[in-house]
Parts: sequence; structure tokens; C-alpha cells
Amino acid sequence: MRESYMPKYYTLDYIPEYRKQYIDIRLQWFVKTYELKNGDWPLDCVSLLKRMKKTQKIPFTYGCVQLPNKYDALTEYVHSQDVYIMQININKAKYPFEHSKDRRLNFTVAHEIGHIVLEHLLIPRSLKSGIELSIEEHEANEFAGRLLMPEKMLCSCNYYSIDTVAQYFIVSRSALWKRLNNMKRLDLLNSRKIQACSRCGNTRFSIFARFCGICGQPISNRLSGIRRVYYPEVYPMDQCKRVTSCPRCNNDLRRNVYDKCSICGTHIFNFCSSFFGGNADECSYANPSNCRFCEMCGRPTYFFEKGLLKPWQEADDFCYVAESSEEYIEN
Ligand SMILES: [Zn+2]
Ligand SMILES: [Zn+2]
Ligand SMILES: [Zn+2]
Ligand SMILES: [Zn+2]
Repeated sequence: MRESYMPKYYTLDYIPEYRKQYIDIRLQWFVKTYELKNGDWPLDCVSLLKRMKKTQKIPFTYGCVQLPNKYDALTEYVHSQDVYIMQININKAKYPFEHSKDRRLNFTVAHEIGHIVLEHLLIPRSLKSGIELSIEEHEANEFAGRLLMPEKMLCSCNYYSIDTVAQYFIVSRSALWKRLNNMKRLDLLNSRKIQACSRCGNTRFSIFARFCGICGQPISNRLSGIRRVYYPEVYPMDQCKRVTSCPRCNNDLRRNVYDKCSICGTHIFNFCSSFFGGNADECSYANPSNCRFCEMCGRPTYFFEKGLLKPWQEADDFCYVAESSEEYIEN
């Protein structure tokens, strides 16, 4: 791949090779431990702090306090009580995040979480050299960048402008730019755009769809989403939109002559759930098998209502849609 970056602002060379891998290992641990799912991005670190405090998977607490102006936040480990304490400078905390400047806090908090997760704080600062401390700062920044803006996500975004993408990921323009520069992928800023749902990132719609089949929001003027996600057809269908095997019991339905599975009675069409309500306003649209919501009316689908599809926020079988729409990046 063509490298596109400005060497002057590239900071990854300050971090030793084995530490870059360590950051990835700890990041994966963090994502797993706090059960971060598809729908948690864009990551709001203030709600993440609440989750950390509540679960105590890492002994942790935080608060907003008056700090000298040069600090955005400070985190320390208190040995005697075995607890991490994060202090956020109340003068700098503007929440909810609106402006690029305010969104800095989200990165700051992710950076502080990085110090904790990378275990920088267990050894007192007084025992470390200036160079060691400066490497730790680079590592915490890299952790924050990877946490808030995962590489696979960034490689599959619609860059309508640097500001729209920065706003989406709740970071400042400069944090996004630095992240792309460290990935050597500034070229992404000029990449081709693809229609995507502004909420769930879905990129596939039936021709007449009026609602996003994945998240259910109306799609009029809302196809300028930043993230681009492909939610696969979980259950294969034939051309008449009949599943070829039963979503519940896996019975082979290719020679089935009924509209239900002969073993468990599951319908073979992913109908709009209103179809079974017997109401005057029922809709009889048969949806693609991955639709959680009816593409015609936005109500839940039969498969979703029966628990045969996970909510899109929890989906783990999706792919990211790369620049050429035939190319996917495994999640
Ligand atoms: Zn720091
Ligand atoms: Zn959607
Ligand atoms: Zn069945
Ligand atoms: Zn419907």
C-alpha cells in the first residue's frame, strides 16, 4: 500500500516495537473486559468511566476537581488502597462534547485510561527517567487513538470532511489527523464515498427501502453516514426471499412446500411483524434475512422479534466496507 503521511508529525518511532504490540494486547484485553460492542462506537469516554467505576473490574474511581491550568486530567495509583483515581480538571470539562476543542476531553480521558491499562502508574514517576516518561506519554496517546479510532473503522469511513469524521468519533480534528498520520493513511481523507446509514453504517438497501433494515431509522436524507458496515445475510435465501434452511432448527427447506418449517413451525419469510397482528395497517413486506426492521414501515421484523437476529449494536458477524465496495475488512 502507498504510504501517505508527514514524517515530521509521525510519532510511532518513539515507541519500541515490542511495546507497540503490548499496546494491542492490552487494548484487546480492555475491549473484552468491558464488553465493548459494535454499537459502543463512537466511544464516549465519560460513559466509559461510569462503566469502569460501576464494574470495578479495575479498582477505579474518578471525579471532577480544580486542577492547575496546565493539566486536563491526572491519574494516580494509590498503593495503600489498591485503587486508581482519575481527577478531571473541572475548568476543562465541557460535556456533552460540542466543539472540536471540547472533544479534546474525550481523548484526554482515553489517554488517562491508557496509563492505567498499560500499567504505567504502578511504578512511581520518581523512579523513571525523562525519556521513559516521554515514551509513556506517546504510548498513552497511541492507546487512546487506537481505542477511539480503531484502524479497521478508520479505513472504511466516508470522509466527507475531516471535521465530520472527527465529530463522529468525538475527537478533535487534530487527534483524527494525527491518528491517520501515524497509520500512514492520510490518503483516506480523499477516498471515495459510499452511501451508508448515519446510525448503524449499513450499506445495503433494497431498491424501494424507506427504512434502514438494520437499525430501523427512516433513510430519507440519512445515507451520508460516516461508518460503512456490511451486516451479512445470516440465513441464506432463495430468489423469492425464502430461507433455504430453518433459522431456528436448521431443517433443510429447499423442497419445503409450506410457508413454515415442517419441524418447528418457524415462518420461512422474514415478514414485517405487523403481518401477524391482524390489524388494518398491517404490512406484508418480506424482508431480506438480515433485516431487524421492516424496510417498508420500520417496524420490527419476524426474525428479529423471534430472537433469531441480534440487535445491530451487538452484532459481531459484520464486516467493514473498504474503499472499493467489493472489498471487505474482517471485523
Ligand atoms: Zn499522560
Ligand atoms: Zn441503519
Ligand atoms: Zn425449523
Ligand atoms: Zn412493514
